[in-house]
Amino acid sequence: MRKTGGGQGQGASFPALDWFRLLAAALVVGIHTSPLASFTAGGDFILTRIIGRIGVPFFLTVTGYFMEPWEKGKTWEWGKRYLKKMAVLYGVSILLYLPLNLYSGYFRQGLSVWGYLKDLFFDGTFYHLWYLPAAMIGVILTGLLVRTAGLPAAMVIGCGLYGIGLLGDSYYGITEGIPLLRRLFDLIFRVSDYTRNGLFLAPVFLLEGLWIRRHDRKGLLPCSLLLLAASAGMMAEGLAVQRMEWSRHDSMYLLLPVVMYALFQLLLAANRGEDRRARDLSLAVYLIHPWMIVAARAAGKLLHLEWLFIDQSLFHYLTVLTGSVICGLIFALWQERMGMKRREKNMEDRNMWNGNMPDGRMSDRNILNKNMPVKKNVVAGGLPGFEISAGKRAWAEIDLDAICHNSRVLKDMLPDSCRLMAVVKADGYGHGAVPVAEALSRTGVSSFAVAALEEGIRLRQAGIRGEILILGYTDPARADILSQYDLSQTVVDLDYGRRLDTYAADVKVHIGIDTGMHRLGIPAEAVEQAEELYACRHLRIQGIFSHLCVSDSLSDEDVVYTHWQITRFYRLISHLQEKGLDTGQLHIQASFGIINYPDLPCSLARAGIALYGALSPEENSCRVRPDLRPALSLHARIGSVKDIHMGDCVSYGRTFTAESDMRIAAVTIGYADGVPRSLSGAGGWVLIHGKKAPVIGRVCMDQLMADVSGIPEAASGDRVTLIGRDGREEITCEMLSAWCGTIPNEILSRLGSRIARIYGVS
Ligand SMILES: *Cc1c(COP(=O)(O)O)cnc(C)c1O
Repeated sequence: MRKTGGGQGQGASFPALDWFRLLAAALVVGIHTSPLASFTAGGDFILTRIIGRIGVPFFLTVTGYFMEPWEKGKTWEWGKRYLKKMAVLYGVSILLYLPLNLYSGYFRQGLSVWGYLKDLFFDGTFYHLWYLPAAMIGVILTGLLVRTAGLPAAMVIGCGLYGIGLLGDSYYGITEGIPLLRRLFDLIFRVSDYTRNGLFLAPVFLLEGLWIRRHDRKGLLPCSLLLLAASAGMMAEGLAVQRMEWSRHDSMYLLLPVVMYALFQLLLAANRGEDRRARDLSLAVYLIHPWMIVAARAAGKLLHLEWLFIDQSLFHYLTVLTGSVICGLIFALWQERMGMKRREKNMEDRNMWNGNMPDGRMSDRNILNKNMPVKKNVVAGGLPGFEISAGKRAWAEIDLDAICHNSRVLKDMLPDSCRLMAVVKADGYGHGAVPVAEALSRTGVSSFAVAALEEGIRLRQAGIRGEILILGYTDPARADILSQYDLSQTVVDLDYGRRLDTYAADVKVHIGIDTGMHRLGIPAEAVEQAEELYACRHLRIQGIFSHLCVSDSLSDEDVVYTHWQITRFYRLISHLQEKGLDTGQLHIQASFGIINYPDLPCSLARAGIALYGALSPEENSCRVRPDLRPALSLHARIGSVKDIHMGDCVSYGRTFTAESDMRIAAVTIGYADGVPRSLSGAGGWVLIHGKKAPVIGRVCMDQLMADVSGIPEAASGDRVTLIGRDGREEITCEMLSAWCGTIPNEILSRLGSRIARIYGVS
C-alpha cells in the first residue's frame, strides 16, 4: 500500500506538485536575473540556461496533468474554462506591462500589424508573456490531437513537434548547415521568433502530464534513478551544445522531457491533495517578476546603491524574488478573499440540486477546503460546516471524516498485505462518489470499485487516480473507452472475455469467479476457461475475484457454504498458479467478509456499506461489531402543522384515522426522495426537536405525515431528522431500513436527486 506520511491521519497530504511550482517560478526569475553572474559565469549558465529550463515545461506538465479530455460529441467544458481564464489573464498582463512597453519604445520601433500579431500569438508583448499564448495554443492543439488521434498517436506527434522545436533552438547549429532545413526554419521564424512556443514546445509536456495521469504511477526508486541519470545527461547535453555553439536559443533540450517525466512521477509519489495557494502564488510570481526587476533597478538608482541592487547578482535576484513573492502573496490573499465571498454566495445554489450533476459534485470540494473557516453550526445535532442547510427542503449531511475513520477501522481488521478497495458504486451509496473517493484518496486508499462504466469515467474526470474496477457488465464495444480512461473491467464470463479480446485496445481486467452465488463469473471449477482468458492478447489480467453471498450470516449452514465458496476460489487459484500463470490481485471479501472472515490471504478487500458506517440490522450477522461511524444523516422540514379531530383520516387511501384530537405535521420528503413507501403504517418515526414523531398514513411522493401531538413547539420550517441524531434520540439507517423491510444499502443508494448533499468535517 502506498502510504504518505504514515498513510493514516487526515491531512497527511503533501501537495508537492503545487509547491514545486513555486520553485519553478523562482527558477524562471533566475533566468531573467542571473543570480550567480557576479560569482561564476559557468555556474550561472548551468543554473539559468540548463536547470532553469525545467521551470516553464513543469508548468505545462501540471496543466496537462489536470487537463480533462475532450469527449466525442461533447463540448469541451474544461478547455473552455481554461482558455477563458488564460485569455483574461493574458489581457490583464498585457495591460500590466503596457507602461514598460511604452517606456522601452516597443511602439516606436515601427512594427507592422503582422509584427504585433506575431507577438500577440507567439512571442508575447513582453519577454516573459509568450508563455500565456503558448499554453493556450498548446492546450487547443493537444485537445484536438487526443480527440482525433488518441493519446498514443498524439504523444508521437507531440514528440515530433518537439523534435522540430529542438532544431530551431538548442540544435540550430545543425539546422543551419543544411540549406533546405535552414530555409524551412527561416519561414518558421517569420511567424515566431523562436520555436519555444505553443506549437513546438507546449504539446509534448501537456501530453506528458495527461499520459502520467492516465497510466500507472511508477515506483520511487526507478524514478529517482531515472531522474538522476536524465539530469546528468541533460547537464552534459547543455554544456556540449554550448561548447559546439549550436544554440540559437537554449530553452529546449533532448533530455528535458525525460527529466520532466521522472521529476513529475517523483513529485506525485510525494504528493497527495493540492494546495491552491501555492499554485496561485507561483503564477503571480511568474507574471509580476519583470516589474520587480524594474523596481530593483529603480531602488538601486534612487538609493545610489547600484553596486548592490543591480551589480551584485545574487542580491539582485533575491530582491526581485522576494518582491515578487510579496506581491504574489498580496494578490493571492486578495483572490482568496474574493473567492471566499463568491463561495459563500454560491454554496447555497451548489448544494441545491447536485444529486446528479457532475459539476455540482466537483464544486462540493470547496466545502472540504480546510483553509476555509468553518462556522459552528447552530442547529442541534448538526456538524460544523453544515449551517448551509438553511433554506433547504430536504438534505443529507455527509461526514467524510467518518468514512475515512471507517476505512481505517476496516483496514486494521485485515492482514497488513491486504489493501482496501473502496466500493463507490451508485454514487458512493448515495454519499457522492467523487467527494468520497477524493477524501479516501487523501488518506492513502488507491483502489476503487464502481458498477458501471459511466461511474468510472466520472471519477477519472474528477481527477481520481489509482485503480478503478468496474464490477458489472460493460459493452465490449466500449473497450477503447475502458483503456482511454484506464479503467479495469470485470470479465463476467468466458464468452464476454472472448468478445472483449476482439477489440484492439488493451484492457485491464479482473476475472470474476462464480463460487456459488450464480450471478457473474466463470465457474470456479472451469480451470480451462480461466486459462483461455490468459491466452487472450488484449486482456491484461490484473486480478481474480469472487463474491460471497451469505457472509453476513453466522448460521452454521451459511458458514459452511461460505467456507465452501472460499475453498473453491483458492483451489482454482492454486491450479492456475501451478500452471505458472500470474493470478495478480486476489479478492473475495466485501464488508461482511472483512468482518466475519478477516484472515483470508487476499491482496484486496472490497468494502462498501461498512465504509459508510451502516451495516444491515440482522441479528447474528457479525462476529464482532467494529467501531464504525455512520457518515450520513437525512433531514427535511415541517411544511405545515395542523390540528385534526377524532375520526379524521390522514393521507392517501385513508389508512390512518385519528383516534382522538391530534396535531399533525406534513414533512417535506417523500418516496420520490428515496423514503420507501413501505414506511407507511410500519410503526416508524422521525425526530423533531429531539422527540419522536410517529409517521402516520401513507408516504406520498413528496411528503409524509407525522404525529406531533407530543411536540407542541413544532412549527412550520422546523428541522426533521429521518436518519441521524437529534438531541438524545437517534434513528440509524438500520432502523429506518428495518421499518421499511429493506437494508441500508437500498435506502442509501436510492436517495433521490432532490436531496441536497452537504459535506462537512466533524
Ligand atoms: C457491491 C459490491 C461489493 C460491496 O459490497 P458491500 O456489502 O456493500 O461491502 C463488493 N463486491 C461486489 C462484487 C459488489 O457488487
